[in-house]
Amino acid sequence: MTGDAKDLHAATVSEALAALEADAGGLTPEEAAARRETHGANRLPEPPQPGLLWRFLQQFNNVLIYVLIGAAVVTGLLQHWVDTSVIVAVVVVNAVIGFIQEGRAEQAMGAIRGMLAPHSAALRGGQRVSLDAADLVPGDIVLLEAGDRVPADLRLLQARGLKAEEAVLTGESVPVDKGTEPVAADAALGDRASMLYSGTLIAAGTGRGVVTATGAQTEIGHISGMLAGVETLTTPLVHQMDIFARWLTVFILIVAASVLAYGYYVWHLEFGGLFMAVVGLSVAAIPEGLPAVLTITLAVGVRAMANRNAIVRRLPAIETLGAVSVICSDKTGTLTRNEMAVSSLAAAEHVYAVDSDGYAPQGAVRWRDADAHPAEHAVLGEFALAAGLCNDAVLHEGEQGWRVEGDPMEGALVALAGKISGQGADPFPDWERLDAIPFDAAHRYMAVLHRDPDGRRRIHAKGAPEAVLRLCADQRMPGGGTVPLDPGHWHETVERLASEGQRVIAVAVGEIGEGEAGFGMEALKGKLTLIGLVGLVDPPRDEAVAAVAECQAAGIAVKMITGDHAATARAIGAQIGLKNHDRVLTGAEIELLDDTELADAALATDIFARTSPAHKLRLVAALQSRGLTVAMTGDGVNDAPALKRADAGIAMGRKGSEAAKEAAELVLADDNFATIAAAVREGRTVYDNIKKVISWNLPTSAGEAMTIIVALFLGMTLPITAVQILWVNLITAVTLGLALAFEPSESGTMRRPPRPRGESLLTGGLVWHVVLVSLLFVVAVFGIYAYAIDEGHPPELAQTMAMNMLVALEIFHLFFIRNIYGTSLTFAAVRGTPVVWLCVITVTAAQFAVTYLPPLQAVFGTQPVPFHDGVLIVGVGVVFFALVETEKQMRLAFRRNAAAER
Ligand code: ADP
Ligand code: MG
Repeated sequence: MTGDAKDLHAATVSEALAALEADAGGLTPEEAAARRETHGANRLPEPPQPGLLWRFLQQFNNVLIYVLIGAAVVTGLLQHWVDTSVIVAVVVVNAVIGFIQEGRAEQAMGAIRGMLAPHSAALRGGQRVSLDAADLVPGDIVLLEAGDRVPADLRLLQARGLKAEEAVLTGESVPVDKGTEPVAADAALGDRASMLYSGTLIAAGTGRGVVTATGAQTEIGHISGMLAGVETLTTPLVHQMDIFARWLTVFILIVAASVLAYGYYVWHLEFGGLFMAVVGLSVAAIPEGLPAVLTITLAVGVRAMANRNAIVRRLPAIETLGAVSVICSDKTGTLTRNEMAVSSLAAAEHVYAVDSDGYAPQGAVRWRDADAHPAEHAVLGEFALAAGLCNDAVLHEGEQGWRVEGDPMEGALVALAGKISGQGADPFPDWERLDAIPFDAAHRYMAVLHRDPDGRRRIHAKGAPEAVLRLCADQRMPGGGTVPLDPGHWHETVERLASEGQRVIAVAVGEIGEGEAGFGMEALKGKLTLIGLVGLVDPPRDEAVAAVAECQAAGIAVKMITGDHAATARAIGAQIGLKNHDRVLTGAEIELLDDTELADAALATDIFARTSPAHKLRLVAALQSRGLTVAMTGDGVNDAPALKRADAGIAMGRKGSEAAKEAAELVLADDNFATIAAAVREGRTVYDNIKKVISWNLPTSAGEAMTIIVALFLGMTLPITAVQILWVNLITAVTLGLALAFEPSESGTMRRPPRPRGESLLTGGLVWHVVLVSLLFVVAVFGIYAYAIDEGHPPELAQTMAMNMLVALEIFHLFFIRNIYGTSLTFAAVRGTPVVWLCVITVTAAQFAVTYLPPLQAVFGTQPVPFHDGVLIVGVGVVFFALVETEKQMRLAFRRNAAAER
């Protein structure tokens, strides 16, 4: 490659192509592969990651760890070496666990970043292909349209109404016009209208350009500060818990210090033992594992969603999704398959049926059950021209049949043109496109200007019938002549086709004389001749039908918001199973309503047709004003505001624009409505699991701490020694607490109504649970201890039994917490999950080891527990479980009653 890519904005198109040794038809795949070797991937260099050692050391940066290190020093000075080594072990194990957990959370996030890798349309060897943007090389020809993120620095070769939003580079948020004319060599970045820069956004129009620089060589690559910040794994709720845990830590440390002072000065206790008791108290009470386990819970949720094709872009969405009470979904491609096929053509007097086999550009067009040939039905030729030329899609024949590159509806139209003309997938190669008005959801049609093989300038338009009819003055008749347009007839035909669920578009033609201007939105009005209507079928997705029913059972309203015709929308709505499918509100009707009227109408209506992106925005606001938590899907550039406004904005991963994806919280890798339902379910599960982790953790900590405090205040020997408390914390924090992060959805998850907006996690119910469970812990632990002493066991054995009692209670509590909405007394609940059993077995094994292995007995001062006492401990655990479970059933009974009355 020669030439200085820096000055290409001042070069002409052909100079630029020459300098890059490129061709307007694209590089050959071989050449592209060779350049990829020299230039590397088109990717910005990753921001430097903190080293492993640094990340490990970071784990020690935590108040509890400081306290423990201080405690280790103090016990060391007192020469209590056993205590010192146990404390050091706790510190190290804590750090290692934190380190591993953080690594896993990072991995989960990294995998998601990979799934969001942008794609871009390019020409390779003359063919339009979709490439991973990382594979672009200098000299590649890239095709862009509104909503695309520019994948590399480009010199424009073609631009139609092209505007780019370059705020990331220039700070200028107003989109700037782009064109192909060279600009002055010394023009500032913001004035280089002939260039597009990597990372900027196409705000309007279409264009094509040759790649001048990739990766770190791009303008954005030069700005080091621009490199994407790393998102941390947190949500408002988890962040709130994090802060809560920190203040709780401070609170506990103050209490601990007071107890230390009180015990030493008032009760004159021996300092060494008292100090260890206070350290044990702090470690027991501080929920040190909680924030880490919550992070893991989120990471597990993020990954579960990714496995179901739902990619979370902003983590708070995980929580919001669980609370969603209304889902507003696109129709085409989300509720339907987006596998379009033309099934009928309606000309002024004849209606033709079209046979389809996927996107194959061969097949019959029939009139009254006989094959219709363009030779006898001239209008078919005009349908073919309009369908084939007013089109940006390309068909490829692959191993699995014909595939569309581009919009599926346009693909179906190319196939139609191929069927009629008999010329296959590229029926009109001699027509040269001069200009185009791209499709936009706001004006709902597309028009193109071509020079035909005879040198005449011809217009073709296609789009929503209302939009195209407005462009037409007359209509084509069977003989080839025209008569004035008969809108009534056409509207009737539209209604008929649409009520069968067909998507109907109209096609029209026109001509502009040489030298005559007049190709533009205004100029076309009333200039064209209507050829007829094209009816396309796009069947609903089977999974979507099931998912809609699932959402409705979960108390979530499902609404369809489409740009399509009301009758089509109504027919598809009925097939999909929407509730009020007889009532349709159109965009025009929405415009007549003020905000309150719209809020009423939006609640009562499930189908919205002929809407534009601006209507979507109003609908989101209207539904939110009635306290609903709104999920909204979108794909176009103009959908970004509605996606941002929605509580959970959902973009389509395949057909969606980059602009929509960036505005969204969630991206659907498969564009499928069923994925939204799956994501809601995961969202609810994650929220439940967060709640479960907290409901398990807090009472456990409180119970352990109370045991020590009660003993100190009663002036008793500790029923569990401080080192033993450290041990229990060490073992359970890594196992039992973590098990809940992996809990699967409870069985009724999608049969409950959504949780109210802004429901607090730290409810009175939770506080009561903490009090009840910690009291039961204290009673059981002291009870077992007192019983053991009474039996004449030595204090060491009594303490060993009390410690095992504590762990048994924690295990039973875990099984209880797994089912906060239902009963824990079903087979499925008792059977548990592999993760739960793995944790339980690990903990049990550890307890056996500390109870029966002599070396550990020496360290922890334990003694072997006789068999019948072990049985007693398990028995007390069962009683504890029965008590809390019964208490839960009493509360559930009241709640069900209250719900029934509502
Ligand atoms: P949907 O909600 O079904 O995705 P769109 O907003 O994409 O609806 O399209 C609305 C209407 O615009 C369609 O019913 C069709 O009449 C017309 N339309 C859609 N895509 C195109 C296109 N590529 N060219 C011309 N018209 C189109
Ligand atoms: Mg669409």
